[in-house]
Amino acid sequence: PVSIMWFRQDLRVKDNPALNAACDEGKIIPIYIYDDNAPDGRALGGASNWWLHHSLNSLNDRLNGHLKVFKGDPKALIPALMEAYEAKGIYWNRCYEPWQINRDKAIKKQLLDNEFEAHSSNGSLLWEPMKVLKKDGTPYRVFTPYYRKGCLNVEPPRYPQAPPARITYADVDDSKNSKTYRPCGIDALNLLPSLDWDSEFKNHWKPGEDGAADNLQNFIEHSARKYKDARDIPSMNGTSHLSPHLHFGEVSPNQAWYAIKDRFETTEDKSIDTYLSELGWREFSYYLLYHFPTIPNKNFNDKFDKFNWRRDAKSLKAWQKGQTGIPIVDAGMRELWQTGYMHNRVRMIVGSFLVKNLLISWHEGERWFWDCLVDADLASNTAGWQWVAGTGADAAPYFRIFNPLLQGEKFDKQGKYVRKYCPELADLPDKYIHKPWDAPPVIAKDAGVHLGDNYPKPIVDLKASRQRALDAFQALKE
Ligand code: FAD
Repeated sequence: PVSIMWFRQDLRVKDNPALNAACDEGKIIPIYIYDDNAPDGRALGGASNWWLHHSLNSLNDRLNGHLKVFKGDPKALIPALMEAYEAKGIYWNRCYEPWQINRDKAIKKQLLDNEFEAHSSNGSLLWEPMKVLKKDGTPYRVFTPYYRKGCLNVEPPRYPQAPPARITYADVDDSKNSKTYRPCGIDALNLLPSLDWDSEFKNHWKPGEDGAADNLQNFIEHSARKYKDARDIPSMNGTSHLSPHLHFGEVSPNQAWYAIKDRFETTEDKSIDTYLSELGWREFSYYLLYHFPTIPNKNFNDKFDKFNWRRDAKSLKAWQKGQTGIPIVDAGMRELWQTGYMHNRVRMIVGSFLVKNLLISWHEGERWFWDCLVDADLASNTAGWQWVAGTGADAAPYFRIFNPLLQGEKFDKQGKYVRKYCPELADLPDKYIHKPWDAPPVIAKDAGVHLGDNYPKPIVDLKASRQRALDAFQALKE
């Protein structure tokens, strides 16, 4: 029998449960569909499209050029392809975005009604959300009990599977398919940006299964033991840089989990436990999205629905372009623009600055990240922004407002990170690198820093804007 293997957010050959199951059945036809029917605002952003282009090419190489790439609505395409290819069944790994769940349910029903087989597997989570509930049958809302009690205490994650011993491809002739159902190929998807924005991306990333394996290996060899402290220092290469690879499924969380577990005794040092719990935060984000599917669009804590966010296009633009005059914020926003990534600590700092110092809605930040991050992920991005805004489950309380100066001085002591992304400040002494406005005129002049000329003056007063945020929160409480 012939089966269709539908690749989605699992662009890998190793530890791919759906691919293994399809290969066990017999010959396969591997396909990818660029779904142009995604709901408003959920089509892939620019950086994700760049990644996808390269990741599909890498997967196609692994499959010896057999990947068939389509563009269209899977609800229409899949039944048509099942007929055209005379397939008995289709295999996929589950996705957890609410709109994809609905789409997949509809496809499954349609196929089963027409006597095709449809098999779905878990290829991207350590613990599937529907299986983890509190004793009273309701979902957890707080990370620690969710992770420690609901997950770790109940069941260890599945051990990674070996890749299929052999992949046999079915011979199919696409010329017989109606034109709308013919594969278009990767290039025809036009995923690369038209302006020259991505030139730096390739110096930072290698999309695909090999790139994912390299990052995991490098992390294990060089950074894992130091993770607990190094993960907070943006100028260090202290984290695994696996997030886009995990998002596109070029590595499974199970592979990452057990690569770490098998290599280190977890009791050996705190770093290993901390790293595993970060994978746990990814799980928790998917868990929240699954159980509370409105959270990409609505505050988890609906008290904030009445909050009076400011509309301020000029400040928003300054934030997006890394021109706020607050060095650590600008460095982060420029890292994002240049590399498609931002360090986690700095995501929290720029997020807090947008939502609290500028009082601009977290949705604006979420949308900008969605377009610019190579790891843009509905679950983690939504959870991250709601956490930062104080509107989320298990979030930082609203009144905890990051002070970007203190954050900079603590986590980027010598200003290495700021100097890298804000080269116009590079010659300032350490003492002033996070607050160039305090530098005496001779020192600023010596360093070539001319505020308001080659680097902006701060667009808000940090102290006053902090108080404004606290007052706005107080008003909401009353
Ligand atoms: P590591 O420190 O090496 O962690 C390993 C893995 O654990 C990561 O790859 C990631 O999958 C997971 N992880 C780590 N921290 C978190 C976290 N706080 N929440 C969820 N998963 C986590 N992550 C995304 O993958 N996509 C996003 O769109 C995204 N948006 C964010 C927005 C905001 C405002 C914030 C504060 C955080 C966001 N994060 C997002 C989480 C986090 O910043 C990134 O996962 C992390 O920086 C990726 O780098 P890394 O792979 O080197 O992480």
